[in-house]
Amino acid sequence: MKKPILGIVLASIVLFSFQSAFAYTVTYEKWGPKIKDISTVCIIEPDYPNSKILSETFAKRIMDETRISVNEWQVQLQSFERGRDKSMWIIEQIPISLEEQKEFDYNQCHIFIKFKERPESQDEWYKLLAKTEYELGDTGRSDITIYYTSIKFCRTEDKDWVYFDPCYEDFPRLMQQIKSVIKHEFGHALGLGHYSSDNLDVSIGWARGTVPAPSIMAVFSHQNLNENIITVKDVVAVRSMYGENGFLPDKEEQIVFDSFQSSSEVYVIPKGGFTVASVDGLINKDMYISGLQVQITIIDPNQSVETREVRVSSDGVFNFQTVVDESIVNGTYTVFANYRDKKSHEITVDIQYEGEDVQSKIPQWVKNSVKWWAEDKINEHDFILGIQHLIRQGILNPPSPENQTVEDYEENQPLGVKIPNYVKQNALWWSQDKITDDEFFDGVRYLIKKGILVI
Ligand SMILES: [Zn+2]
Repeated sequence: MKKPILGIVLASIVLFSFQSAFAYTVTYEKWGPKIKDISTVCIIEPDYPNSKILSETFAKRIMDETRISVNEWQVQLQSFERGRDKSMWIIEQIPISLEEQKEFDYNQCHIFIKFKERPESQDEWYKLLAKTEYELGDTGRSDITIYYTSIKFCRTEDKDWVYFDPCYEDFPRLMQQIKSVIKHEFGHALGLGHYSSDNLDVSIGWARGTVPAPSIMAVFSHQNLNENIITVKDVVAVRSMYGENGFLPDKEEQIVFDSFQSSSEVYVIPKGGFTVASVDGLINKDMYISGLQVQITIIDPNQSVETREVRVSSDGVFNFQTVVDESIVNGTYTVFANYRDKKSHEITVDIQYEGEDVQSKIPQWVKNSVKWWAEDKINEHDFILGIQHLIRQGILNPPSPENQTVEDYEENQPLGVKIPNYVKQNALWWSQDKITDDEFFDGVRYLIKKGILVI
């Protein structure tokens, strides 16, 4: 019989577990790519001779419609590869009839789809319409079980009340419901989580099918009579998880962001007015996917996180602009971008109010530039920009340089700037808050005095 899979239940469709919330935000969970290379899906024919619920005809139809549902994933994924070889999204399928099941070599299967009347555990009755279990370890193998018995609300009454409780009927669920559930569970096997809203009404609308669900990964209720479809959101989610090579193994690690920067490191908001802050970047041309947006994450000085989606033009350029006025918190913001599940480097942007006393306030970007310089990640130029900023703000008072001899000057030229090791060490410690500003400034003043650092 079927090779047993040791697994943990991660994915299931749950009927009645909605949570209420005030705001309406949507999240699309992605659990990361689960399958590797071309996967073989084995569809196990249900045991209809031993079922009071399934006819032979319905069992054969389930086999056909399952194949069509899984194939819909392949067709949708491939349809986005305009003008490219589409083999990276191939999903092989093997239907295994009852007669073949004894002799079949299940080792060739990566994903199993099997059918049962209802969950074995009574706790899960009516709640689970299906489940997907992943094999332990990063094997890409998973096991999908579809529960096919129709559920309705049965009426019972006593002398005081009429009750409507879910109960199983003696026949299978509508084929379009079963198909929706198969497509949903296969999304889990691919590594997608749920598409959900934290608003009760919205969630119920999607689940019951009174409002079309924007994603096949929205939670599905037994009351939903529709056949849900795989949407553009779903295809984009899978493509962003798996990348350019689809299910096939990755080539080398690709650079996603050719650049990412803010048009200014400091924005000063004029009194009673506003200014426009902007960040822009460039997506590497080999990583660009038409229609996929860049996600910009902004962390404000109070560590509140906000994300925005911005369009990427066909040449890979993206730009995010926002009006900043005195209604926003001043201080240091951290900004980074995500695309194709890869993160850009982080940049820091300072927002200041005009006329604000910035004495003794050292912006994070200066600390960062000092840290990166100490770690040899950036050259002197960016370090000097930071020091110049401190001098302009009156935070660091530079000494006058000592007279330099011609020899010193020439010796320094070809080597760039020569900086004693202890100053770099101090810089690192300072960026980690291990030494005080003054201790670090002493080192910088020494460099300026000796003419090593020309500000
Ligand atoms: Zn689910």
